[in-house]
Amino acid sequence: MESLFCLRCNQELEPGHKSVAVYMFSQTVGVRPRQKSGARRICFCPRCSVSLAMGPAPEGALNVAAWQMIRDLVGADPTLTRAAWETLHGVVEELPATGTDGIAPPARTAGYFEF
Ligand SMILES: [Zn+2]
Repeated sequence: MESLFCLRCNQELEPGHKSVAVYMFSQTVGVRPRQKSGARRICFCPRCSVSLAMGPAPEGALNVAAWQMIRDLVGADPTLTRAAWETLHGVVEELPATGTDGIAPPARTAGYFEF
């Protein structure tokens, strides 16, 4: 099975773990024969899903469409928010007591939605 990574933070999403998947495909309308693109699956980890949903609207029509869908999911049920809280709780416990010495911030590859 192909590995999936969160589009925003690049964290690997293991099969069966909680995440949000956005599926996209496009097709022609009113054109014969009808053409259909391949489908793409874009994933977000719970923390990024909740962060995006709680954050301001992004720029761009496609970004806004995806953002509204993620907001619907995050707003409908606290499961994702709880999963995000649990990962955050785990991260906090892994940090050394002295603070941020020697800890480089994680490399950010894709900042936001990149369609
Ligand atoms: Zn993420």
